[in-house]
Amino acid sequence: MSNSSGATSGASNGGQRRRIMGVPKICWCGASISAIISKSAANPYRRYYRCAYAASHKLIDDNHTFKWVDEALLDEIERLTVRTSALEQSMSQITTETMDHQKIVFERMQMKLEKEILERVEEELLDSKSSMKKMLIAVIVGCMIMLGLSKMIG
Ligand SMILES: [Zn+2]
Repeated sequence: MSNSSGATSGASNGGQRRRIMGVPKICWCGASISAIISKSAANPYRRYYRCAYAASHKLIDDNHTFKWVDEALLDEIERLTVRTSALEQSMSQITTETMDHQKIVFERMQMKLEKEILERVEEELLDSKSSMKKMLIAVIVGCMIMLGLSKMIG
C-alpha cells in the first residue's frame, strides 16, 4: 500500500507546495505528469496529478508535483471564467465601439439625406415660387385691369 501512503502524504503536504495553477503538464524535475487514483482512506478514488518520477520511485514527502485533479479542473474553470469575462468585456467594448461607429455613419447618412431632402424642397419651393410669382403677376395685372375698367366706368 505504498501508493496510498504517497497519496496521503501528498494530500497533507499539498499546502506546503508551490501552488500550480491549472492542470500540471510537466514536473519541475522534467518528468511527465501521471493521473493517479488515490487509494488513501482520506481521499478514496480521488484522482490526482503526480510527477511520474516521484510516483515510480514512490517518493514520500517530496516536493515533486502533486495536485488533485478536481482542484486542477477548478483552476482551469476559474481561468476560463476570467478569460470569458475578459472576452465579454472586450466584446462589449467592441460592440459599443461598433455601435458608436454605426451611429456616426447613420448620423452622416441622415445628414446627407436631410441635405438632399432640403435641396429637393428648395428646388420645389423655387419652382412653386416662380409659378406663384406668375400667378401673383396675373392677379395683380387682373386687378389693375379691373381697377382701370372701374375707373373708366366710374
Ligand atoms: Zn518531479
